[in-house]
Amino acid sequence: MMTMNKELIRGKTKDELKELFPDGPSYRMDQVYEWIHKKRIHSFDGMTNIPKDLRKELEKKFVLNSLEKETVRMSKDGSRKYLYKTMDGEHIECVYIPHDYGDSICVSTQAGCRMGCSFCGTAMGGFRRSLTCAEMAEQIEGHEGEKITHAVIMGMGEPLDNYDETVKFIRLITDGEGYDMSARNITLSTCGITGRIRNLAGEGLPVTLALSLHAPTQKKRELIMPIAKRYHLREVLDACSFYFKKTGRRVTYEYAMIRGINDSREDAGKLALLLGRGQHVNLIPFNSVDGKQMDSSSEGTIRSFKNILEKNKINVTIRASAGADIDAACGQLRNKKERLLG
Ligand code: SAH
Repeated sequence: MMTMNKELIRGKTKDELKELFPDGPSYRMDQVYEWIHKKRIHSFDGMTNIPKDLRKELEKKFVLNSLEKETVRMSKDGSRKYLYKTMDGEHIECVYIPHDYGDSICVSTQAGCRMGCSFCGTAMGGFRRSLTCAEMAEQIEGHEGEKITHAVIMGMGEPLDNYDETVKFIRLITDGEGYDMSARNITLSTCGITGRIRNLAGEGLPVTLALSLHAPTQKKRELIMPIAKRYHLREVLDACSFYFKKTGRRVTYEYAMIRGINDSREDAGKLALLLGRGQHVNLIPFNSVDGKQMDSSSEGTIRSFKNILEKNKINVTIRASAGADIDAACGQLRNKKERLLG
């Protein structure tokens, strides 16, 4: 309970730490910062080159970790899904996915989400609050064992609806004097908040942007994504090409394949026309969500959808669904937990 009043030190930049502790040599906070982000220590006591009194003071004011692991589900494919409880009792999910090019974490940016996409399990659970940059960083840095080299900001929540903390989080984990993840290994997925896409382009962070498109026309998109009514498809695509021009990073267009909703040959043709040659589409087999009357398109449908796009010179990848056997779809585990808690 004591910890409830303490702040999370993981979210502090080096400069913020120096401001908080102006006494003593300035390299002191460099050392503390290094212990947290580089050596990834889990107790202040272990900071052996830091004077005891300062360690005590740090411990009085701060906590290093805040997320309590409630459930871990192991998938046959090697991925693991974690359900964490925050200090104030919110539930968030985080998925660990091993790849041959490095290990990746799917990071949550909010407890819940307010975007309301009709196919998404997180939306069903409603919105609770945005996460702090420290809570996001802990999902990567607090991970035991493997050093995580890649991050996909595609967990619960809309990252651009929690803009400042998400950007601070990206700066923290890409800091060369800290965790030092390459920004090029980070993908941020958004439902398309246009002003924020443009802001992100100006941050000097070469992260890959993934746009949740999911429909080839404004009308169809509005039917499944309420946010589409606020930001017209034209405006969203303009913001994406601005992002590309400014950062030189290609945008990935995500398209969940939902049976009978957006998976016809006509939809594929319209999508190809909408995006134009050379663009990259990531087809996502729909992950079933309890309580939703929606199914994934069949393998055959996905294949012919892909063929039509490819005939139109669109680059297409099909997302390998990590952890389909462990409720890896966004929000599934949290929804189950909250149902159990009544
Ligand atoms: N708020 C962000 C991140 C969401 S999760 C966004 O909208 O992009 C990452 C991706 O998974 C998004 O493209 C999202 O639309 C998609 N998604 C959500 N629920 C899904 C489901 N049940 N099956 C397949 N993809 C889903």
